[in-house]
Amino acid sequence: TTFGDLGLDPWLVSKCSLLGLHKPTPVQVNCIPEILAGRDVLGCAQTGSGKTAAFALPILHNLAKEMYGPFALVLTPTRELAFQIGQQFQALGSGISLRSCVVVGGVDMMTQALALQDRPHVIIATPGRLHDHMLRANPPNLKLVQYLVLDEADRLLSATFSKDLTFLLDSMGTTQRQTLLFSATMTADLKDLEAVALTNPYRFDA
Ligand code: AMP
Repeated sequence: TTFGDLGLDPWLVSKCSLLGLHKPTPVQVNCIPEILAGRDVLGCAQTGSGKTAAFALPILHNLAKEMYGPFALVLTPTRELAFQIGQQFQALGSGISLRSCVVVGGVDMMTQALALQDRPHVIIATPGRLHDHMLRANPPNLKLVQYLVLDEADRLLSATFSKDLTFLLDSMGTTQRQTLLFSATMTADLKDLEAVALTNPYRFDA
C-alpha cells in the first residue's frame, strides 16, 4: 500500500515522500480511508506508530478544499506532544499556507490570544490552557470545528483535565463534525467518552 492508494490528494502524497514518509504504517493504512470517508475513529495506537500523520493527512486533505479556521482542534495532554503535533502539521501542510497554533501553558497568554485571533486553521492545545482562552474576550468559535482529535485520550481523561474537557466539548456544541480519538489503552472511562463524543466509530486496534 502507498499513500496514494489511501485516497489522499497528490500534493499530500508528494509532501509525504519529500518528508521521507514512503510507506504508510498500519494505523495510517487502516484509518486514513475511514477518515476520508467521513467516519469517526476510535484508535488504539502508541506514540511512534505514525498516528499523528494518520489524522493530520486526511484533515489537511479536506482543509485544502475549504480553508478556514478553526477547522480542526487537537487536544493532547502535554506541551511536548502539542509541539510535536504542531511541527508535523506545519511540515505536512507547508504547501497550503497552513496556519496552526499551539496553545499550551507556560507561554504568554497575550501572544497566544493574538495568534488565536488570526483564526488558525488548526489549533493544537492542552485542555487547561484552551479553557482559559475560551473565558477571555473573542475566543475562537469552536462550533466551526469540523475535526476534533482527542490524542492520548486515556491521559486526557485524568482528573486534571476532566473539567476542561467537558467545558470544551460543551463549547463545541452538537454541530456536525468528525471526532478522532486515539489512545494507548482502552480504559473503562474511555467508554463514557466514546458515548458522548463518537458516533458509530471505526475501531482500529494494532
Ligand atoms: P507519531 O506516532 O505520530 O508520534 O509518529 C512518530 C514518528 O514517525 C514521527 O516523527 C513521524 O514523522 C514518523 N512517521 C509517521 N509516519 C511515517 C511513515 N509512514 N513512515 C516513516 N515515518 C513515519
